[in-house]
Amino acid sequence: MWNDFLSKLKQPRDLGLMALCLLGLAYLGWLVSTQLGNGVSDTAYYKMYVDTENGKAFRHKVQVGDSWPLRSPYSGKDTGMPAEACFWTADGKIKSDPDWVVLNETLGKSGPTFCPICGRLVVGHNPAPHPGGKPPPTRAEYLAKQAAGQRVADR
Ligand SMILES: [Zn+2]
Repeated sequence: MWNDFLSKLKQPRDLGLMALCLLGLAYLGWLVSTQLGNGVSDTAYYKMYVDTENGKAFRHKVQVGDSWPLRSPYSGKDTGMPAEACFWTADGKIKSDPDWVVLNETLGKSGPTFCPICGRLVVGHNPAPHPGGKPPPTRAEYLAKQAAGQRVADR
């Protein structure tokens, strides 16, 4: 099929047509890549940080070579730490506007992290809630589960 196509391109007029086609394809490719680029830049290249001095969250455009703590727009100091989203309320309902929580792990502290707003467990890449899903455990629930697990292990 490709050979057929090439054999038809013996006249300069056809070569011109092919060049036009290639230009069209290049234009389409460029169009698609810019569209995809726009779609990505709004989500993938931003990350939420929390100013550990005042607990305020801010959005930061991710750049190559970023390291934290980042300069906070609130305090002007290097107190911005990467944060995880918590979508839960204390009574186990889903919020549309998440609270931003810095993990103990990120701060170099040991032990699990609980959201200061709802008191529920927050983990790295904290899963977003889905309707009907179970909320993460509160500190009390988490400790009770740990204790129960311990009792099983002791047996
Ligand atoms: Zn929370």
